[in-house]
Amino acid sequence: MMRSISVLGATGSIGASTLDLIRRNRDAWRVETLTANGNAVELAKLAREFSASVAVVADEAKVPELREALSGSGIEAAGGAPALEEAAARGADFTVAAIVGCAGLAPTMAAIERGGVIALANKEALVSAGEIMTAAVARHGATLLPIDSEHNAIFQCLQGNAVEHVRWITLTASGGPFRDWSWERLSRATPAEAIKHPNWDMGAKISVDSATMFNKGLELIEAHYLFPVGLDRLRIIVHPQSIVHSMVEYRDGSTLAQLGPSDMRVPIASALAWPERMDTPCAPLDLAEIGELTFRKPDEQRFPATRLAREAAQAGGGIPAVLNAANEVAVAAFLDGQIAFTRIAAHVEDVLGSFAPPAPTSLAEVLAVDGEARARARILMEAA
Ligand code: NDP
Repeated sequence: MMRSISVLGATGSIGASTLDLIRRNRDAWRVETLTANGNAVELAKLAREFSASVAVVADEAKVPELREALSGSGIEAAGGAPALEEAAARGADFTVAAIVGCAGLAPTMAAIERGGVIALANKEALVSAGEIMTAAVARHGATLLPIDSEHNAIFQCLQGNAVEHVRWITLTASGGPFRDWSWERLSRATPAEAIKHPNWDMGAKISVDSATMFNKGLELIEAHYLFPVGLDRLRIIVHPQSIVHSMVEYRDGSTLAQLGPSDMRVPIASALAWPERMDTPCAPLDLAEIGELTFRKPDEQRFPATRLAREAAQAGGGIPAVLNAANEVAVAAFLDGQIAFTRIAAHVEDVLGSFAPPAPTSLAEVLAVDGEARARARILMEAA
């Protein structure tokens, strides 16, 4: 049976992996909405290829370019934040939430409010609005399937088991490109070095997050909202090969792990086909060729991000949104050459120390906390 799909963040790395799978299964999917920020030409190309119903750019200034690129196609073109939310709410059977950053929160919530299946890559949205988003999923009868590889692994390992039997959920972390670097060397790390991940090919922001370990910190908070076993049962282990994507240990001593190649099409395919399975073009896992799988404890001295994230999750309320917003501002400044790599976590800690908002109770309040945290982050950065 043909299902409809919308891809929010279609021009990004997750968008490309998703559309690659759709391209190989054209009979199974009808593409409803595709979105981008400002990359109108690439978006129009994808919209034409997949005969999408509507294409939306978040940046309103790019609408004329999008219209021009889509002229004669019959595909609706729109732009700006309200259009993005409207398009997300058009009610596809399946929505892939793959916008980067808290910018994806409102469109993801719009999709959730229409029900259906939401495949979530956009971890910043869940980190910023965890309680509100999970409540909306329950209220609107939506299904949230994680496609972040670690959370997808945990989701798979939990199938058929009650959460009360869980002793530990262990998130694996590659440790990023700098996992063996000294503090002194880290302080001189360049954006080009930070975005060159040893195992994964990803967008710039998540690559920097992987290098600072904020990615794992955000994932810890993401897991806290997705799998309610208690924060004290969530732990992190460094696994440089990125083959074991996460594990669940049960009270009887059994540990279930999900393994696979470092290819995001594996977790995306797992969500697209759920609860069935589908073929992918991914290389089969050859453990004899890989030879060794190694594990070690994270170093929170050189990489304080996971400690900051755990503290933010413990504090709850609006604090995870502050952590996320401060990190987004710091990562953008690092990529722009304005601050040193080692200032990213220090800067996030400064912002967290400056601001304790009341717990938000609505999407608008989360966005207000996010905006205030960004403003403070910029002021503190200028003052530093
Ligand atoms: P990319 O930077 O590759 O792509 C981001 C997408 O979001 C693009 O389509 C971009 O459009 C769009 N976008 C950017 N800013 C805005 C905005 N302000 N409003 C609307 N759309 C916007 O990111 P990734 O694909 O790497 O990551 C997407 C999400 O998935 C992130 O939350 C990331 O943490 C998560 N994730 C990614 C993984 C990966 O392997 N890449 C793995 C696990 C999770 P445009 O092209 O026009 O800029």
